[in-house]
Amino acid sequence: MKENLFPKKPYKTDGGAPVPHRKGTSDEDSQVLPPPALVRLPMQMHIGAPCTPLVKVGDRVLVGQKIGDSDAPFSAPIHASVSGEVTEIGEITLGGGARSLAVTVASDGKMEEIPYIPPKMDTYEDFITAVRECGLVGLGGAGFPTHIKLRPSADKKIDTLIINGAECEPYLTSDNREILENSWDVMSGVYTVKNMLHIHRVLICIESNKPRAIEVLREIADSSVDKDDEVRVLALPARYPQGAEKVLIKAATGREVPPGKLPADVGCIVMNITSISVLSRYIKTGMPLVHKRLTVDGGAVAHKQNVIVPLGTSVAEVLAHCGLLPEKVGKVMFGGPMMGVALESLDVPVLKNNNGIIALSKEEAATSPTTACIRCGRCVAACPMRLYPLRLEKAIARKDVARMEALDLLTCMECGSCAFVCPAKRPLVQSMRLGKAILREEKSKNKK
Ligand code: SF4
Ligand code: SF4
Repeated sequence: MKENLFPKKPYKTDGGAPVPHRKGTSDEDSQVLPPPALVRLPMQMHIGAPCTPLVKVGDRVLVGQKIGDSDAPFSAPIHASVSGEVTEIGEITLGGGARSLAVTVASDGKMEEIPYIPPKMDTYEDFITAVRECGLVGLGGAGFPTHIKLRPSADKKIDTLIINGAECEPYLTSDNREILENSWDVMSGVYTVKNMLHIHRVLICIESNKPRAIEVLREIADSSVDKDDEVRVLALPARYPQGAEKVLIKAATGREVPPGKLPADVGCIVMNITSISVLSRYIKTGMPLVHKRLTVDGGAVAHKQNVIVPLGTSVAEVLAHCGLLPEKVGKVMFGGPMMGVALESLDVPVLKNNNGIIALSKEEAATSPTTACIRCGRCVAACPMRLYPLRLEKAIARKDVARMEALDLLTCMECGSCAFVCPAKRPLVQSMRLGKAILREEKSKNKK
């Protein structure tokens, strides 16, 4: 037994907010969306260089066929998610408002797949090539290309792999369903990454409000599969934002990632639990990332559920399948209410890093009026990054760049804990975003 390698309980983390969980879909099996009439596959579904289309209008494509790629090292290929004909290649608007070139495929309804075979996996280089060819990016929200994450620079000594199954956002249960429906894929992905990177400590972190997920993975980790005793499941307190990368690293290892540094700087790699499961299936089958499980919930949805959809399907089509109640809709978001992105149009495609579509009713989306700050300090106590949101808000209102920097604005991860607890309902997150935009503008002015 390697007790000294593993914490007996999570390390204490700072701040957080008692947000309601609302995980009503966690016990329901995922449903599969029937093939949509068309998909629009943006060439930019990741952080890094956009892909260039490898197909032209009129081409027939199959599910899993690579249709976009880039020579840039920091990128990830895009694959067709339905079979059919390429009908258009042009710019579209994405959920967050960004523009991207996209390939539109009109589905023939057959979902005919490429003849796929498992990738060669003899060496570490084979493995990294496989991760890239899978088209895998961080599926928990960031969209960071996984093949880059799994090739840390030689000066970083990685000793811990953290698997993020916290899923602390209200409503979202897609990672929880991945664990319950594909627990062996999760574990086999863990062992592949662990062995390829020679990491001898893996902590699978799950919030304690998902007891079945903890139980099923513990059963496997406690069995003879983990003969070297290098994988443990750590139950975390169910307190938002437990799944934020820096908070998770602190809870699992006690290590603090300094401002401006990355997990690798403190010896850790953090992977989303669905990402590791998708990687495991690719290694077994050779079918790349072409669909995504989304939690569809909120007061304006009649049939709340997790639904597996081809990438590029429109939000409107997913919501129609789940019974959107148009007269009730107050706000539709990609992601949960704490860190999600409000959608101005439902005519936007589902991307690799989306994990939920939440359609709040008018009552749920209603906001209370903002009043003056009463200097109660609750926002400071709630901030997991130990920032001073009230002081930052003032500095941002004055456009005081030096003060914003002194107060470490860029460390803010926009988790919304401060705004959630604020009795004056100050729009603190919007303020932090504005402050960051001011800092960016200042930086670009100084470069000229
Ligand atoms: S929680 Fe709101 S009211 Fe209280 S100090 Fe912070 S900004 Fe002011
Ligand atoms: S949004 Fe930023 S300032 Fe507010 S609690 Fe989260 S990290 Fe702290």
